[in-house]
Amino acid sequence: MNIGVLALQGDVREHVRALTDCGAQACAVRRPDELEALDGLVVPGGESTTMSNLAVSFGLLEPIRKRIAGGLPVYGSCAGMIMLADTILDGRPDQEAFGGIDMVVRRNAFGRQVDSFEGAVAIDALSGPPLHAVFIRAPWVERTGPDVQVMGRVEGGPAAGRIVAVRQGNLLATAFHPELTGDLRVHRHFVEMVHRSAAHR
Ligand code: GLN
Repeated sequence: MNIGVLALQGDVREHVRALTDCGAQACAVRRPDELEALDGLVVPGGESTTMSNLAVSFGLLEPIRKRIAGGLPVYGSCAGMIMLADTILDGRPDQEAFGGIDMVVRRNAFGRQVDSFEGAVAIDALSGPPLHAVFIRAPWVERTGPDVQVMGRVEGGPAAGRIVAVRQGNLLATAFHPELTGDLRVHRHFVEMVHRSAAHR
């Protein structure tokens, strides 16, 4: 089983480490021909407008869209969540995304003065206490379609109740960065998704 981390930009190394700590085989990928061998893909946090530009110039936009349509498990964190959204608010007019999750996300949603904050997010699918979630100029999810499962919301503070973790089929997205906290539960959950999907092929 081989999980790629899209290495156009963003915190690639942290995701490779978290996946490896879960016992998965993980590597950085940036070329279309590297996608073929993958059983799963992580789209890291970073800057979604830059990632969009680079995905276009590296010829990755259509190949990744095709793999998503074919059922490849993909996990997007923060900018990666934006890249998996069917609709982006406050994006750049020419901003492209891979899409696949029927949701509307708002970029930089938590406001300028709160560029970065940490808070609790309870995720039903994960056992144990609520996650300690790190948000860095994070998006939130404003609307979800009927096939999207809301997995987690901000627990307290001014953004309480905001949707920050979702799943649709083989696609998983969080507005926060579990790769920065050492809590492996989200990555383990994704590795499980990849295992189950590989077992069904
Ligand atoms: N604000 C960034 C964007 O719009 C996302 C930030 C992040 O990934 N930490 O892409």
